Amino acid sequence: MRVINLGSGSKGNSSFIQAGGFRILLDIGFTVKETERRLELINEKAEDIDAILITHEHSDHIKGFVNFLKKYKARGYAHASVIEEIKDTIPEEIKDKISIINDYSFGLADIRVTPFVLPHDSSSCLGYMFEYKGKKVSFATDLGYLPRQAFELIRGSALVYIESNHDKKMLMNCQYPYIIKKRIAGDSGHLSNEQASQIVVDLARFGTKYFVLSHISENSNTLEQAYVTNARALEDAGYQLEKDIFIRYSRQDRPGNNFYFGEENE
Ligand SMILES: [Zn+2]
Ligand SMILES: [Zn+2]
Repeated sequence: MRVINLGSGSKGNSSFIQAGGFRILLDIGFTVKETERRLELINEKAEDIDAILITHEHSDHIKGFVNFLKKYKARGYAHASVIEEIKDTIPEEIKDKISIINDYSFGLADIRVTPFVLPHDSSSCLGYMFEYKGKKVSFATDLGYLPRQAFELIRGSALVYIESNHDKKMLMNCQYPYIIKKRIAGDSGHLSNEQASQIVVDLARFGTKYFVLSHISENSNTLEQAYVTNARALEDAGYQLEKDIFIRYSRQDRPGNNFYFGEENE
């Protein structure tokens, strides 16, 4: 299984997952052209994508969705409330390429996909867990907090993409209007570095070795601040970084680290 983020942040999110020859994009928050370019950077082709899964309807997750389905063979998968939100933009000819999903597991070729509900200020928001040959990889971004049920589902994942959106102090001091700050920091907003670091430590206790800090804000956070907060929490909990646990981060402007599980050439 190969997993790599193509870009993450408020200007666009997308990740690539490949296992057993089946290729998935999780979210497509870039234009088709930009998605094609980023896929090329990781030696993949847009025409080979089999499925696009959507977390929620915010434009940083769905920007290229309809146009990609129009242009390529890929099928789309989204929650009914997401489809309801964007229905006016879906032309007749691709309607039967989109499947409605909820928080039940389903199979895509040999990959088991389990969406789970996250609290966020959209019509609905899903996190995803992917299982292939006994390895689990999970994505939890765009959430005000991580519900216990979601934690219990994803614990034991080898790799977790976890949102570490903002530094609380930087958020309160940045240029956003107060109402936006309140929204971001609230229970249906985004995780702060501190919140992320508590989840990271809890997941580490259940065996997760790799974490990718994601959806890092360019206005109310820095890559360094996100890293240091999470790294310190792990060290305080007794873990040795780069030995027991590995922390990486997703970037807005380019693809992130490659992760391979199982046979590399699958
Ligand atoms: Zn969102
Ligand atoms: Zn987002």
